[in-house]
Amino acid sequence: MVDIVSDAGVAPRLAAVRARIALACRDCGRDPASVTLVCVSKTFPAAHVLPALEAGERIFGENRVQEAEAKWPALRERFPDLDLHLIGPLQSNKAHDAVACFDTIETVDRPKIVRALADAAAKAGRCPTLFVQVNTGAEPQKAGVLPQEADAFIASCRTEHGLPLAGLMCIPPVDDQASPHFALLAAIAARNGLSALSMGMSADYPLAIPLGATHVRVGSAIFGER
Ligand SMILES: *Cc1c(COP(=O)(O)O)cnc(C)c1O
Repeated sequence: MVDIVSDAGVAPRLAAVRARIALACRDCGRDPASVTLVCVSKTFPAAHVLPALEAGERIFGENRVQEAEAKWPALRERFPDLDLHLIGPLQSNKAHDAVACFDTIETVDRPKIVRALADAAAKAGRCPTLFVQVNTGAEPQKAGVLPQEADAFIASCRTEHGLPLAGLMCIPPVDDQASPHFALLAAIAARNGLSALSMGMSADYPLAIPLGATHVRVGSAIFGER
């Protein structure tokens, strides 16, 4: 974990992100309450995350199960109304741990994970809110279902495994314009009757809002460089 000397910058940076979301919403006629800010706290220790919790934030994103297990159970005792999102790749042998630790899993992307999550959810008696990750840029190194396979994958999650899906998530290629990827994700969600769209990070969340983002995942703009 990163050793942070001071976390005094978190509250003002968070306020600036909140203001930027409100501005982007105003520009496109959306209600700011329709955009959920997921504060991405990966790599930062609890002490650095605390100012965001104290400012009222309850929705956080982590990309590793083990790191979240070490950081969040103690914070959850103080802030029981957390909504913790897994935004990093999930291994099927970690599905039970992920269901125990996370309220939302944004990275469902292959049949093996779907089966493992369905099994873990049945045993736990609760199912996290689920998003399917779509690899909109078809990047070989990146997780996510390919765009042309998304419809069939979404259908199989619903029919074969009875898993309720909330929406879709994407991470556009770093060197591409993000907007066409956001538009593609929105189109796949619309034709599959999915309402939630997790898209937009520190560099591009204001672009994702006019294209329909319901969740923006913002890390460095709030917590500083990792
Ligand atoms: C790290 C991460 C983010 C946040 O990235 P920033 O550029 O720091 O805002 C968002 N989504 C995912 C999937 C990430 O891994």
